[in-house]
Amino acid sequence: MAKVLISCMERRLNQELDRMAKDMAKDGSEVIVLRNAGANVGGLEESMREIEEMAGIDQIVIATHDDCGAMKFVSGCLDGRYTYDRDLGSKLVEPFEKHAGENLDIANQKVQRSRAVDLSKALGLDAKIEVSPISVGSIGVPKSTNGAHHALLVGSGIYKMGFEKAIRKAGLETFETYVIDAPVLSETMPDIKIAKDILGISDIRVVSLNQKQEAKNAKFVERAKGMGMKHLKIYGIKDRAPA
Ligand SMILES: [Zn+2]
Repeated sequence: MAKVLISCMERRLNQELDRMAKDMAKDGSEVIVLRNAGANVGGLEESMREIEEMAGIDQIVIATHDDCGAMKFVSGCLDGRYTYDRDLGSKLVEPFEKHAGENLDIANQKVQRSRAVDLSKALGLDAKIEVSPISVGSIGVPKSTNGAHHALLVGSGIYKMGFEKAIRKAGLETFETYVIDAPVLSETMPDIKIAKDILGISDIRVVSLNQKQEAKNAKFVERAKGMGMKHLKIYGIKDRAPA
């Protein structure tokens, strides 16, 4: 059985999520970390199904956070500043319609808990569901330097290496690098689009931790390019992640 930690791609959370995952693994449990825009459970249904089939899930911890860019995007969608497609609508935006005008970072805790409860039922899980929000001001994140280079790492199982280590191996900065991590990469297409269109990130690297992933990732990038995402780059992190 595995514990699943679901959080946001937010660059400031990298170190804290490594710490949380380590903490959750203290009792010997397998811990799987998933990250997308907004710790959005609705955008990880296929990934959760795959994890349930491979390992089984007995705990879900959802780590939303304050000052979340994904919630700013949702807010902009709700008041018409941003447009979004149907896929992103049903997965990320619509659950917030009844929370319009509220603090969406707080609403996100409720939204994701209720989505996790629904998903658990749909998958027939008997999992403990917990929301453990992170306050970005209290986790020791250094202030961003002016003109910092923001990048996005996309991959499956990056957490196995540790986000901080993987980012360093890619030659990037711990607190300037957003991370998307999910076993079903195709599910993260809307999140990659948010990083590109809303956060303005142009350095997007689909990383593989081993050779087996390289071929899979190449297919994914091919598909993404076919959908107009021509900016994606394939990137290998040479060091093998622990099996
Ligand atoms: Zn966020």
